[in-house]
Amino acid sequence: MVKRNPNMAKLQSGYLFPEIARRKKEFLARNPKAKIISLGIGDTTQPITPHITKGLHNEVSRLGTRKGYSGYGAEQGLEELRNKIAEKLYNGIIKGDEVFVSDGAKPDTARLQVLFGSNATIAVQDPSYPVYVDSSVILGQTGNYNQRKSQFDGIEYMECVPENNFFPDLKKTKKTDIIFFCNPNNPTGAAVNRRQLKEIVDFARRNKSILVYDSAYSQFITDKKLPKSIYEIEGSKEVAIEISSFSKPIGFTGVRLGWAVIPNELLFEDGTPVNKDWNRIATTLFNGASNIAQHGALNALDAKGMKEMRQTISYYLENAGIIRDSMEKLGYEVYGGRHAPYLWMRVPGKTSWEAFEEFLGKANVLTTPGVGFGPSGEGFLRLSALDHREDVKEAVERIERCMK
Ligand code: PLP
Repeated sequence: MVKRNPNMAKLQSGYLFPEIARRKKEFLARNPKAKIISLGIGDTTQPITPHITKGLHNEVSRLGTRKGYSGYGAEQGLEELRNKIAEKLYNGIIKGDEVFVSDGAKPDTARLQVLFGSNATIAVQDPSYPVYVDSSVILGQTGNYNQRKSQFDGIEYMECVPENNFFPDLKKTKKTDIIFFCNPNNPTGAAVNRRQLKEIVDFARRNKSILVYDSAYSQFITDKKLPKSIYEIEGSKEVAIEISSFSKPIGFTGVRLGWAVIPNELLFEDGTPVNKDWNRIATTLFNGASNIAQHGALNALDAKGMKEMRQTISYYLENAGIIRDSMEKLGYEVYGGRHAPYLWMRVPGKTSWEAFEEFLGKANVLTTPGVGFGPSGEGFLRLSALDHREDVKEAVERIERCMK
């Protein structure tokens, strides 16, 4: 028998969402007639819009012809798409050859961890998207799980709570090789301003760290004064990688498409360009994103596609407004939902899992326990607005009725 990778055994009770699915299944076994509405997992629900669908369709048809067929593509993505991402989503502040198209921001996070290796140290926002911590554990960058602190030894947790306006106290933050920073944030929905983002960049520069900036929700930023990309901040190109995704803005969670930006100026200590090694990783562990998905994205980035993208995002943000108004009416303290499809709600006097069970039991509404995103998420629930409007309305109506 082969010995199990000891790092796998360190992971805490699986990934958060399988645990939610397990509890949902248990609940349904006890209450088979219950009609559960999910404000839980952050998956999209709205159909892919017509012009973007047309881009996918046309490519499928092309592949079905002898003349139009193509096999493996460039591992870094279609040149036209790389250039279009740089031009349309970054206003040309980065170059197309710095964009590496991928099958999504989650697999890019895992491949980045392989790039950094098991000796790298990391810092994460607390709470944060669980994949940064779990991929770090799997790679062997951490010590054991510390039950008392609900943290992994060896990871630097940067507390982000209402009391500090969801922005970490960098004076208290230890130097690490890598800093994961997600903005707008999953799960809290908080979005930082330009001054705060500059503070993070300066902190990374002082510590000679690499900042991995996850902008999977940047298209949800509606306030023009707020930064969408890390590269809007002076000095960031020497320290920052940006990972991002088509999943949420155009409903590509199942189609799969994302990208990483690795600026030419970003170097390792020995002077090796980070994008040289990233290219090696991409050509070894990854064989390029689907050509069909990439043609959908090409359509998403022309004028018609961008208009459709904005409509999809507005729909979800209106959902967020409906949830926020209702929860505030019930007296809850609610954050986020303005520049992200997530609301972050304090549940006074209860643990996150107790509140999760209460919402499920009384209103048959599925939420996400905040503590699943890190110890500072204890006492909060995350509500997702990525649902059908009628489900959102029904969910809030049930909560208002059953939980007064
Ligand atoms: N990053 C964050 C912060 C996310 O919330 C998610 C998905 O929920 C991802 C990355 C994953 O994106 P993708 O679907 O492109 O893998």
